[in-house]
Amino acid sequence: MKILVINAGSSSLKYQLFDMDKEEVLAKGLCERIGIEGSQLKHRPKDRDMVIISKPMNNHGDAIRMVIDALIDPEHGVIESMSEISAVGHRIVHGGEAFSQSVIVDEQVMRVVSECSDLAPLHNPPNIIGIKACQEVMPGVPMVGVFDTAFHQTMPPYAYLYALPYSLYEKHKIRKYGFHGTSHKYVAQRAAVMMGKPIEDLKIITCHLGNGSSITAVKNGKSVDTSMGFTPLAGVCMGTRSGTIDPAIITFLMEKENLSYKEINDLLNKESGVLGVSGVSSDFRDLDEAVEAGNQRAKLALELFAYSVKKYIGQYAAVMGGVDAVVFTAGIGENNPDMRKRIVEGLEFLGIKIDLEKNNIKGKEIDISTPDATVKTLVIPTNEELMIALETKRLVEAQ
Ligand code: ADP
Repeated sequence: MKILVINAGSSSLKYQLFDMDKEEVLAKGLCERIGIEGSQLKHRPKDRDMVIISKPMNNHGDAIRMVIDALIDPEHGVIESMSEISAVGHRIVHGGEAFSQSVIVDEQVMRVVSECSDLAPLHNPPNIIGIKACQEVMPGVPMVGVFDTAFHQTMPPYAYLYALPYSLYEKHKIRKYGFHGTSHKYVAQRAAVMMGKPIEDLKIITCHLGNGSSITAVKNGKSVDTSMGFTPLAGVCMGTRSGTIDPAIITFLMEKENLSYKEINDLLNKESGVLGVSGVSSDFRDLDEAVEAGNQRAKLALELFAYSVKKYIGQYAAVMGGVDAVVFTAGIGENNPDMRKRIVEGLEFLGIKIDLEKNNIKGKEIDISTPDATVKTLVIPTNEELMIALETKRLVEAQ
């Protein structure tokens, strides 16, 4: 079975074609500058060089057509015809309270996803456009929606509600939704496989540390709490996002600095986090270099980041009444041994202890805990696309 996975943004569209019999990627790529001058498709077939095809793409329909053409091209294609694609899995950012699982897309689903656009105005509309474009170009092929928020729908009300007037939850659906759900679910499932235990018997803390970062408490296979909230701005300090701060700072700053709604939003989302603290960069590689060169604020930014993640590990161990494994994933979690070390330092009292040599390995699935650690520390490269493909296969086969 071959499954196409689509992640549509406002002017971009990423794709991967999976052969699900071997769970391998046959080709992947990216359409850039859709609807803008200079649009191009970067297509990489398995084990072959990337090809760049520059051609105007006026809309997402054009982009999908170009993707299909590239996939069936006699030279750099990987399949003979579009009919080999059994289903398409779409990443959808926000499923609100309506979707706690992936779903086969029908008209009713499209309507509800549109209603969720209020909660993710930058993300859901392009996701919807991506689905419509595929439906047009590939009529009759089942489409599946996989939501970033779905995995966290198992949180209990006391974890997802904010202590605001309850009427605001009823009126505006203000509550914690959480994000990166596909990634947290994937690495939690892999952790259980690595530990050789059923996920239903485990308490796992998954740390997705990338440009955006979030931590999730996964108890018995279910998300019971997560650090991002109503939006992806909440939780730990991030590349450019503040994470959770005293909410009173917002009104204070708006008044003192005479900031508009947009300006304060930009300040918190784009100018804060480790970039804001260091004044150097949002990229941890740049920060490491700056620290080497003696930059004290870069050092402070890294300390602040590690401290904010460490606190969530403590919180979530408390929330679950213990912890069996801590998982590191995403750009920083997979590739930054120094940050992993900083985060777990001092957590020996919980049973977390890492082998510093094993910790130096990057980007690979590995157990980095010492033999006497009672809590496993695991590095697991995330694979949201494979998770979307697996969900798509499961739903299409169950149809
Ligand atoms: P996004 O959230 O945009 O997907 P990533 O998960 O790629 O971002 O995370 C970006 C962060 O991960 C950057 O701060 C970067 O320093 C770090 N990172 C990514 N790849 C590597 C690598 N190969 N080596 C070291 N750090 C990396």
